Amino acid sequence: MLTDFSTQTILITGGTSGLGLAMSEAFAEAGAHLVIGGMLTPAEGAKISASLMEKGAASCIFDDADLRDGQAARGLVKRAEARTGAIDVLVNNAGIQHVEKVETFPPEKWQAILDVNLTAPFHLIAACLPAMREAGYGRIINIASAHGLVASIHKSAYVAAKHGLVGLTKTIALEAADSDITCNAICPGFVMTPLVAEQVRAHQEKTGLDFEAAGPDLIKDKHPTGRFVTPRQIADMALFLAGKNAGGITGTTMSVDGGWTAQ
Ligand code: NAD
Repeated sequence: MLTDFSTQTILITGGTSGLGLAMSEAFAEAGAHLVIGGMLTPAEGAKISASLMEKGAASCIFDDADLRDGQAARGLVKRAEARTGAIDVLVNNAGIQHVEKVETFPPEKWQAILDVNLTAPFHLIAACLPAMREAGYGRIINIASAHGLVASIHKSAYVAAKHGLVGLTKTIALEAADSDITCNAICPGFVMTPLVAEQVRAHQEKTGLDFEAAGPDLIKDKHPTGRFVTPRQIADMALFLAGKNAGGITGTTMSVDGGWTAQ
C-alpha cells in the first residue's frame, strides 16, 4: 500500500539545503504539503519554495525561525499549524557542526550545536505532538548520525547532541506508543553537503590533496564502501519511515552509513 502524501503536511527543518533539501524534493515529488525551515532570507526561501512547487508539492511555506531559540522553534510549529492544520510528519533535520579538540572547543559553539541539534527537536516534538495525538497519527523522523551511535575525535558537541537525539527518539516513541505515532532516527554516514564540504576543505589543507581526492580520503576509514552516501538515499529512507506501512517501526535507528557502524 503506497501512502498518499497529497493530504499530508510535512515539516522539514533545514529543508533548504543538503539532506533537508533532498527530503523536501522527495516529498514534493510525492505531492505533499510542505513547510520548510532554514537560515535563508525570505526571498531565497521563496525561490526554493517555488522550485519545490514545480517538482509537485501541493503547497510550500518557507519559515526562517532560528532554531537556536526554543520559543522560535515552537513558533514555527504554531505558524505551520495555523496555515496547514496538524503536522503529519515532522522531520528534525536542521543541524550544525564544529570540529575541534575538546580543550579549545569554544563554549558558544558547544551551546549552539546542542541548541540546534538536540534542544530544537525537543521543542518541535513537544509542539507537534498535541495535534498528532488528536489526529491519532503522526510520524517523527530525527536526522541523527552515525555519530549518534559511535564517536569520532574532535566532534564532542556533535557526538553528544546526536547520542542525545537517539535517546530522545526512543523516549518519544515510548510516550506515543499508544497511538499510530512513531518516532525514529536516521543515522547517516558521510553525505556530500555544505556541512561535510567544510570538513573536506579542512582535510585538503591538512593533506594537500585536491577536493575530489580529499573527500574519499576523509571517509576511507569510516565507510567500507569507500563511497559517500547520497542525499537521495537518505530521502528515500525518510519517505519509507513517513509511510503508513512503517507504523510497526518505532524507537529505533536506521543506519544509512556505507557500513560504518558494522565495523
Ligand atoms: P547543511 O549544512 O547542508 O544544512 C543544514 C540546514 O540546517 C540548512 O538548511 C540550515 O539553514 C539549517 N540550519 C542551520 N542552523 C540553523 C538554525 N540555527 N536555525 C534553523 N535552521 C538552521 O547540512 P546537512 O549535511 O544537510 O545536514 C542535515 C542534517 O543531517 C544535520 O542534522 C546533520 O547533522 C545530519 N547529518 C549530516 C551528515 C552529512 O554527512 N552531511 C551525516 C550525518 C548526519
